[in-house]
Amino acid sequence: MTNKIKYFIANWKMNGTNKSVNLHKKIVKFSKKKNFNSNIVYCPPITLVRSFQKIFKKSKIKLGAQNCFYKDQYGPYTGQLSPKMLKESGCDFIILGHSESRQQGDNNNIINQKIINSINSRLKIILCFGETLNEKRKKITNKVISRQISQALKNVKNKNNILFSYEPVWSIGTGNVLNEHDLKKYLLFIKKLLISKHKIKKPNILYGGSVNSSNIKTLKNINNLDGFLIGSASLKVNKFIDIIKKTYN
Ligand code: PEP
Repeated sequence: MTNKIKYFIANWKMNGTNKSVNLHKKIVKFSKKKNFNSNIVYCPPITLVRSFQKIFKKSKIKLGAQNCFYKDQYGPYTGQLSPKMLKESGCDFIILGHSESRQQGDNNNIINQKIINSINSRLKIILCFGETLNEKRKKITNKVISRQISQALKNVKNKNNILFSYEPVWSIGTGNVLNEHDLKKYLLFIKKLLISKHKIKKPNILYGGSVNSSNIKTLKNINNLDGFLIGSASLKVNKFIDIIKKTYN
């Protein structure tokens, strides 16, 4: 039994306690099942990374951060964390360009700087992009996606460690998922763009936006999809495992 879905990324946002981390021990056993061949990455708040490291110690489950400061190394930047510090604290991945971070002021230039510094610190990037409801209504989704990706990748030399996560902003946390026809259309557009314009031979493309254990049955079969970025449904271990399990059936 193999699974074309290679990545399940849990984005915990500003949620979780040490107690809730312990409840996720269950996924370690699940990830060691014989035919399990996907990658699970938890992106909790940095305050919980230590606790997760303890429970994931003997497993292949990786940890990721949810954002970083745009400068690397160390310096007089009160309240900030650099990619280097995140790597040192046990993160292997980092989410960049999430729409909630864009709302806090991250623009494409800052995201580009963060990508370059994160790659230098050997972090793997989960680059989020996607249109707002307004942009969808104006039918400029392709243009928005293309611009976000191009600006994010400016002067980025090694693009092999970037996962490209298409997340329509209007779908995040709303329960509304893109219809199958449109999702297929945009995934194909993204794939062609990454291959032809950005010269990435085999891009890994994820989808994020209200993924749950019901819609996963449809989503898992869609072409040009290598994984999912999952927000609220990853907070409860049983729900998260259920989503993963259903991609194996
Ligand atoms: C996200 O935050 O990236 C996300 C996809 O959230 P949700 O699954 O809750 O829509």
